[in-house]
Amino acid sequence: MPDSRTNIAADDHHRFTAGDRVSVLLPVPLAGPYDYLVPDEDDFDLAPGDAVVVPFGPRRLRGVVWGPGTGEVAAAKLRPVEARCDAPPLPAVLCRFVDWVAAYTLYPRGAVLKMVLSMPEALDPPAPATALVAADPVPDLRLTPPRQRVLAATADGPPRTARELALEAGASPAVVRGLVKAGALREVTVAPSADPVPDGARPGPALSPAQAAAAGELAAAVQRGEFSVTLLDGVPGSGKTEVYFQAVAAALAKGQQVLVLLPEIALGAQWLLRFRERFGVEPAQWHSELTQATRRRTWRAVAEGKAPVVVGARSALFLPFPDLGLIVVDEEHDAAFKQEDGVVYNARDMAVVRARLGGFPAVLVSATPSLESDVNAGGGRYARLHLPARHGGAEAPAVQLVDMRTDHPPRDRWLSAALCQAVETTLEAGEQGLLFLNRRGYAPLTLCRACGHRLQCPQCTAWLVEHRLTGRLQCHHCGHTGALPDSCPQCGGTDSLAACGPGVERLAEEVRRLFPEARLMVATSDTITGPRAAAELVRRMEAKEVDLIIGTQIVAKGYHFPLLTLVGVVDGDLGLAGGDLRAAERTFQLLYQVAGRAGRAAHPGRVMVQTYMPDHAVMQALASGDRDAFLAAEAQARRDTAMPPFGRLVALIVSGRDERAVDGVARALARRAPTKGPSGEPILVLGPAPAPLALLRGQHRRRLLLRAPREVAVQGLVRAWLAQVTPPAKVRVRVDVDPYSFM
Ligand code: ADP
Ligand code: ZN
Repeated sequence: MPDSRTNIAADDHHRFTAGDRVSVLLPVPLAGPYDYLVPDEDDFDLAPGDAVVVPFGPRRLRGVVWGPGTGEVAAAKLRPVEARCDAPPLPAVLCRFVDWVAAYTLYPRGAVLKMVLSMPEALDPPAPATALVAADPVPDLRLTPPRQRVLAATADGPPRTARELALEAGASPAVVRGLVKAGALREVTVAPSADPVPDGARPGPALSPAQAAAAGELAAAVQRGEFSVTLLDGVPGSGKTEVYFQAVAAALAKGQQVLVLLPEIALGAQWLLRFRERFGVEPAQWHSELTQATRRRTWRAVAEGKAPVVVGARSALFLPFPDLGLIVVDEEHDAAFKQEDGVVYNARDMAVVRARLGGFPAVLVSATPSLESDVNAGGGRYARLHLPARHGGAEAPAVQLVDMRTDHPPRDRWLSAALCQAVETTLEAGEQGLLFLNRRGYAPLTLCRACGHRLQCPQCTAWLVEHRLTGRLQCHHCGHTGALPDSCPQCGGTDSLAACGPGVERLAEEVRRLFPEARLMVATSDTITGPRAAAELVRRMEAKEVDLIIGTQIVAKGYHFPLLTLVGVVDGDLGLAGGDLRAAERTFQLLYQVAGRAGRAAHPGRVMVQTYMPDHAVMQALASGDRDAFLAAEAQARRDTAMPPFGRLVALIVSGRDERAVDGVARALARRAPTKGPSGEPILVLGPAPAPLALLRGQHRRRLLLRAPREVAVQGLVRAWLAQVTPPAKVRVRVDVDPYSFM
């Protein structure tokens, strides 16, 4: 629940007038609100949520009025607010959300506000749109044929921009500019054209009884307009998207806004198309690939209530919706919802908080719910809606394990005889296959056969990965790249460097050798760089220009390829290495999702998972299709060890270039580690230990991990703990509440 700090921003009746002190929160990390003076100007008053311009040191910054001033600064030192921005005030609920996220994640409120004001220019009204009309009368001038065509084009229709006119008249922009200069065309301002909005009244597809029941529940929750969380749990292809579209329609009917969070932009290509089919137009989008201008427009449209539906990545959670009525988190289990840079937060969890503060429903959608959500649904905190079958009765694909201990391929090859056979059958039938290997590049490791030296990143505890596409070595953690050396940097041996293990590029080499006729496409984040590339992948698959895709996790979710009937998982064990708390859960989710790509239409699918651990619980769950038994076993293991969601974790990551200073701070923190909660609850602090990435981007890293019983509010404990140790400026202590990454 929100912490007890009262927040005046919630009280929008409060107005501050000349001479009042106000506190203004600035979008700067390491800062709380600062006091300013309301200037003595006619008709100038301020209310909480107002965006203002204030002096800050030598700079001028845009910030937000947070409440009354604190009075800690002497009146003589106070500086006045310079201006109010011409923008709708931040909704009170958003200000409360900023406070809440800051208190929960232990980041400064200014750092959270920075995510809200990610487009500060949007606080200024857009420049008025201008268009051109013919002057009346047209002055005397030499009328060349292009000029005549441009003037003729202005004769009817609405005013058009210079570009539109040039295009329409088949003239160059210079001709249009010339006419403006000669006074034959003049500029007028026009009201910006409103974007067409999604039409919630358009009919959707006829739903199956199970779909209709689920959709009815969600729509009813939207109509009630109260906080609730529903886990929409259904096998891939069961129509979850169609079902939650009904909830979107219900919110649109109420005139409320909707936010749909998706984990990855690549997911967007087909999703946007489906949205458009259902609601007539695409929704507003919010992710990092958009231009500044688009984001500025969208931010403003959201703030003005003119964007009824936004689909976006996690940062869309911080958009200034004045009347949000529904949040959908699709693929809720996806770790991409956890933001690891800047403010460390989990967008799925914060979406639930946002819904609670706003008093409306949240819907979490997944075919492989996170253990957290599954336990919450099991315990009755969340409602659960279940869609048990694929739409149209398509069969779920059969999963077959290939025991690599007995069916192992020859040296430096990665495909078992069984999988090769399956690929051949698929190609002969004229169907498509996907070979899944979650490793970019050519080989994950390059070593010297003479001296054993391994090529390592100079800045990280990580091997350099050879990429043949670019002909370079690359560190997947810091982006460091270098040329592949001709000789071993250690012993100077020539021709002794050997690639070890497969990446997708090396697998592609093997596949080309085995199936020279097959048309191959490698899909990784190196080749599918955004929505456009993703759309092209879909087009080529649908047009059957590709027989085999070799892909990483980028192709694991969201896509629907009707002719894809075979999925081969090349290394099913890859995600199980390392002691990550969620390694088994994540591997299961990923492989289950990949498996779900097979046979989604009329053609039955087939899935083969190569593994050296066929008895592992994850492999058994995949083969038997018994997800719930797997989740139950995972839950029991976590309960036994008091791990999330049955206990709470907070990680501290101490980092800096000076290893001794880092160690000093880490040890000081360990010495002052709490051992008991406020009511004597047992608190365990592990570490300090070198992080698995003990060196990252040249920074030495040590980790401490605090584990507490679920009922303990860990924030107070951690705040008090951190207050006892003041690290030198060159050492940073990063807090990660509910950590997902243990690197
Ligand atoms: P999920 O989100 O559960 O994976 P989708 O909503 O993507 O499932 O549905 C899978 C496919 O089945 C999509 O192509 C979708 O258009 C189709 N589909 C699902 N339900 C229906 C329905 N009631 N009528 C027509 N097509 C449907
Ligand atoms: Zn590196």
